[in-house]
Formats: sequence, C-alpha cells, structure tokens
Amino acid sequence: RDRLNQLDLLQLERWAESVQGKKLSGKILERLPSDPQEATVAVASLDDHHLAWGTTGATFPLMSVVKPFLLLYLLETLGAEVVFQKVGMQPSDRPYNSVVELEIDQGWPRNPMINSGAICLASLLPGESATARCEAFRQWLNQVSGAQLVLDQQVLAQVNAHPNWQNRGITHLLNLAGHFEHPQLVLDSYNQICCLRTTVTDLAALGLVLAGKNPQIGPKHRQLVNGIMLTCGLYEDSAQMMAQIGLPMKSGVSGAMVAIIPQAGAIAVYSPLLDETGNSVWSLALLEEISQSLELSILG
Ligand code: GLN
Repeated sequence: RDRLNQLDLLQLERWAESVQGKKLSGKILERLPSDPQEATVAVASLDDHHLAWGTTGATFPLMSVVKPFLLLYLLETLGAEVVFQKVGMQPSDRPYNSVVELEIDQGWPRNPMINSGAICLASLLPGESATARCEAFRQWLNQVSGAQLVLDQQVLAQVNAHPNWQNRGITHLLNLAGHFEHPQLVLDSYNQICCLRTTVTDLAALGLVLAGKNPQIGPKHRQLVNGIMLTCGLYEDSAQMMAQIGLPMKSGVSGAMVAIIPQAGAIAVYSPLLDETGNSVWSLALLEEISQSLELSILG
C-alpha cells in the first residue's frame, strides 16, 4: 500500500511513455469506433491517493470489464450458492465468445469472465425488463463505489444493430440446456450492462470496491471475484498474465482494463488497440511495467 501511496505523477508519466511504442504490435477490432491513439490511466489507493495520466476525460463503455462487477452484484444480492449453480470457476482456453465448451459440457459455462458465463449470470438479474435490470445494477454500482456510470444509448443501439451470431448462439445453447427462459430478455440485459459508460477515474473507483474499500462488501465475495479475475479475467492469456503481472485483472473489447491490488488499491487503464485475445495492448504493457516496478504481484 505504501508503494502505491508514494507513486507520483512523474513516474506514472515515464512508464506510460515508455510503453507507448508497444501499441504498434496489436490489431484494432473495428466494432467500436474510437481513437486508437487514446491512452489513459488512473491509480487509486485505499488511502485516497489518486493519480491520473493521459486523456483522462475519455469515456468508454465497460464491455466485458462489467463482468466481475456483475458477479459481485449477484453474489451480494443472491448469494454464492445460487450464482455457482449457474456458472463454474474454471479457466477456459477458448476465445471469450466461444460456444465450443457449451457443446462439449452440456451447456455448462466455465466461468463468469467469458461471454457464456456472463450471459448466464445476466439471467439472474432482478427486474422485469432489460432496462429495469440494468438500471438497478447501475444504481447499485454507483452507490457502492461513488462512480457515476451512465448507460450509453448510442453504443447500445450499435450493439443491438449488430447481429452478433456468436452471442446469440451462446444464448440459444444456454437456453436449450435449461439455464433460463426468455433468451431475448437475457441477451438484452447482458448487452445493456456492457454499455455502461465510464472514465478511468470511475473505473478505478469501482476497482477499489474489490480491493476492500467499501465495508458493506465483505471479504468472502471479494475473494471469489478477485480469484476468478486472476485466473480467468484475460481469457486465454490469464495464466501467462497471472505469472507476469500477478494481479486480478479484467479486460473489455472497448480497450478498458482494471487491475485490483487487494487491500491496497486499483489501477484502471484505457487504450482501444487490442491484441488477438481481445486485451488492450497498451494497458497490459503498462500494467506489467507498474506491477513489476512497484512489486505489486500478489504472488510474492
Ligand atoms: N459486449 C461484448 C460482447 O459480448 C463484450 C465482449 C468483451 O468486451 N470482450 O461481445
């Protein structure tokens, strides 16, 4: 915690600039229009030490970064037993939107950090409509973190206009396997929560909840979420990044990424250029630099 509290803006800027060149090796996913050159990072400690560097005003939809917070919300509202009847906590070596494991595992989603697991969990959201479900979840997130997430109607319209057969296929298989009824409602709920829009400063505030900032959220559920992020949060690259960075992390296709430093703080990064796995290239490079320099890995 001390190492995080002593971090200054100059050092953060040096690291940010030193990893800039690494952006070139990634590939851009065309689905969300954004400036691939944008790069911003926010660091927040449990002792209220806050730093932000880059295009800090940039806003972006959470996309898959919402998944650990969906898991936390459902653990807090429904309990672990209900949640883990729907989804496993086992890493997957398939892409985030793969249907393969649903076919070979009789519709059992491996974990809540990939689309199948998160779509399955979206079926548990309380509320009559997708809008009511997303709104209740949004208000809860803002209440526990102090963030000001808003629903991005424009991105939601783009998501809804895109056929996304992959997610439809996942939803269909989960429905066939008997996980839920009303597949369209479930998919709409999932799509809406992915379109909650934020900044790195607010994403770091959300991360602080998982680091232990809010006494309302006990250690039991935080440990579950952080453990699943550590082993599954970066899809097929989770194991490698656990070794190289050693922090619970979650990425999204918008280029957002959050890293949790349990009992100490959180780091939120945004940069739209993605690698083949769907993880932000610059965000990963920067998190590796920060974690190694400050020796933040929770693995020793
Ligand atoms: N909404 C996106 C999708 O379901 C989220 C995926 C992601 O961010 N990796 O395809």
